[in-house]
Amino acid sequence: MNILVINAGSSSLKYQLYNMKTEDVLAKGRVERIGMDSSILTHEVDHQPEVREVSEILDHTTAIKKVLDMLTHKKFGVLRNIQDIQAVGHRVVHGGETFSRSVLVDQNVKLEIRKLFDLAPLHNPAHMMGIAAVEANLPDVPQAVVFDTAFHQTMPPSSFMYAIPTVLYRKHKIRRYGFHGTSHDYVSKSAAEFLERPLEELKLITCHIGNGASCAAILNGKSFDTSMGMTPLEGLMMGTRSGDLDPAVVPFTINKEELTLNEVNSMLNKHSGLLAISGISSDMREIVESMNEGNEKAKLAFEMYAYRIRKYIGAYIAAMDGVDAIIFTAGVGENSDALRKEVCKGLTFFGVRLEEQRNAVRSSQPRRITTDDSVVSVLVVPTNEELLIARDTYQLVLERPADEAESP
Ligand code: ADP
Repeated sequence: MNILVINAGSSSLKYQLYNMKTEDVLAKGRVERIGMDSSILTHEVDHQPEVREVSEILDHTTAIKKVLDMLTHKKFGVLRNIQDIQAVGHRVVHGGETFSRSVLVDQNVKLEIRKLFDLAPLHNPAHMMGIAAVEANLPDVPQAVVFDTAFHQTMPPSSFMYAIPTVLYRKHKIRRYGFHGTSHDYVSKSAAEFLERPLEELKLITCHIGNGASCAAILNGKSFDTSMGMTPLEGLMMGTRSGDLDPAVVPFTINKEELTLNEVNSMLNKHSGLLAISGISSDMREIVESMNEGNEKAKLAFEMYAYRIRKYIGAYIAAMDGVDAIIFTAGVGENSDALRKEVCKGLTFFGVRLEEQRNAVRSSQPRRITTDDSVVSVLVVPTNEELLIARDTYQLVLERPADEAESP
C-alpha cells in the first residue's frame, strides 16, 4: 500500500509518499508560496536531482493537483497513476480533548476539527484546507488525521489543569494539551526497542529540541506531563518563542510599551527565545558558532536554553519518581553535541555520565551517549513524524469495516 503524508500550512504544503511494505519514502517535497504568484514546488526522489517548478498555485486544491501530477510524471514521477495512492494521512496540530488517537476522516471528524479552530487558529484551518484539497482530487481515497496533541491526552488532571478559575476550563477548555505528540510517541517507542525493554515498564523523558521545543515525561508508555501548554508557547525557551514566563509580564509590557495584545503575542512567539537573547539568530548552529568566537550574548542564550531543558528534566524525574532514559531528538537535539553536553553536565547527581566520544558521533541511527555504567541512559533518537503518520494511517485503513472499504 502507498500512503501519501501531507502537512498543510496556510501557504505551504509538505508531502512524503511511503511504500508501506518496506516503509521506504518513494518521493517527498513541498509547495511554497501557495496563493502568491511564483509558487514553488520542490520534488525529491532518492538518487535523483531535485526538481523545482515555479508556477501560479492559487489554492491548496491546485497544490495537491500539482503534487499528484509530479508523483505520476513520466520523467520525475514514481507512480504509474494516481490510483496507486491507497490512503492519505494528514498532520493536524490540535485535536483538543476530542481526539486521543488518530482517526479516519468523515463528516463528523471534519466538524470536530472545525470546532477546534479557536484553539489553533493558525494551524487547524490550514489542515482543513489540505483535507478538502485531497477530497477534491482523490474523492475515493480514505484519509486519516494524526494529531500533535493526541499522545498527551493520557496526562492526569494534576498535570493538565492550570490553577485558574475552573469555569475557564469548563467553558473554554483552557488547559495544557501539549504538542509534538507524534514525535514523543515515535522516539519513546524507538528508545524502548533500542534498550530492548518493554515500553510499559519504562520511565522516559523525551526532549524534542527543534525550532519548537518540548519535553515530555513518559511513564509506562503514556504521556504523564509535557512542557508545552494550551498553545506551543509554554515551556522551554525556543528559537523565537519565550517559553515560560511570569504571566504578569504581559499586562506590564502592554502598559509600559503601549503595545497591543496582538503585538505582545507576536513578540512572545516570533521575537523572543534564542533570537531575542543572542540578538543574532534563532538557529542553534549560529549561536554555537558565535559563542565559540567569544560572543557573550550568544553564550547567555545558549546557557539559558540548556538550563531550562535541564530544569524540566529534573522536574520530570521528580514527577515520575525516577527515570530510565533521557532521549534527545529533532534538529537541535539530534545534531548539537554541545547542547546535549551542556544539559547533561548538571545531571550527574541523578547518575548521568556522558561519554564525550559517543556524544560527538554523528549517525542517523538511535544511539547511547552515556557510559556503559551510567545509571541513567541518555540516547539520541532521530524522530520521524511522517513515518508515524503513515503507520497510523495504514493501521486505520486496515482496520476499516469491509463495507466502508468497498465504498469509501
Ligand atoms: P522544526 O521544529 O521546524 O521541525 P527541526 O527539528 O528541523 O525544526 O530543527 C531545526 C533546528 O535544528 C534549526 O533551527 C537549527 O537550529 C537546528 N540544527 C540543525 N542542525 C544543527 C546542527 N548541526 N547543530 C545545531 N543545531 C542544528
